[in-house]
Amino acid sequence: MVVEIDEKSGFCFGVQNAVEIAEKALLKGEKVFSLGPIVHNDREVERLSALGLVSIDHDKFRKLRDCKVLIRAHGEPPETYIEAEKNNITIIEATCPIVKKLQSRIKETWEEIRAHQGQIVIFGKPGHAEVVGLMGQTLNEGILVSNPEDLEKIDVTKPVWLFAQTTMSIRDYDNFASLIRAGMKEKGIVDPEKLLHVSKTICGQVSNREPHLKAFAKKHDIVIFVSGRESSNGKMLYSVCRNINPETYFVSSIDEINRTWFEGKNSAGICGATSTPKWLIEKVRDFVATI
Ligand code: SF4
Repeated sequence: MVVEIDEKSGFCFGVQNAVEIAEKALLKGEKVFSLGPIVHNDREVERLSALGLVSIDHDKFRKLRDCKVLIRAHGEPPETYIEAEKNNITIIEATCPIVKKLQSRIKETWEEIRAHQGQIVIFGKPGHAEVVGLMGQTLNEGILVSNPEDLEKIDVTKPVWLFAQTTMSIRDYDNFASLIRAGMKEKGIVDPEKLLHVSKTICGQVSNREPHLKAFAKKHDIVIFVSGRESSNGKMLYSVCRNINPETYFVSSIDEINRTWFEGKNSAGICGATSTPKWLIEKVRDFVATI
């Protein structure tokens, strides 16, 4: 059986950057806390915790004083920085620069339009850390939408500024924008483009992987998709592979691989999410090669 690894799979630039910042801080021998798991991948979190990185939640964060806390690639809302300053906590900034830029754009837009009845609409997953950080830029006055039913939260007779969490599917985002346009037309607005301002905020590090993974999944008899179960883009990219190749299996480690999946197969493709470390994908490849 031929076993091929997808060379484009593995950490995106933002996650790689955050992991390197953490490693650099840990090398100095200092105690470093990470606000939330640094990446949605348990194996990588375990590796970094062996080096001394301690993951904490927001409750624990509020009780900390005089220490160093790393902000992961997803970013944080402004109140986290205010809290840190109050408690003499040094922030190690590892927010992905793309997320940081999106936060600033949302904040600037919100400050500009709030007096003119404009609405900031954020297309994202409720409770996702990046979304919490984005909503925080509007003091949670933004409107969070995640499915077509949420259209009713928007007043389609007033201006709308639409943004997306960076890891959403482009197709779903475009569909939601079309729903808003249709809703505006229904209310008699002749030119919805004058009221609806759509920002292209989905990260190319995720969206560019979609067409690439489709071709990769088509090429192989079986696909092993390696990702943490919490990873938002992991779920999305897995379903992209699975739609093309029904013989696609989601695993988080080699223990979850079932040898019977490979019976009668001549080629296996191994790929993963933007939060899957390359070393884990290679470990899965090496294991599959022994089957
Ligand atoms: S997916 Fe894009 S925006 Fe998100 S962390 Fe990675 S590089 Fe940054």
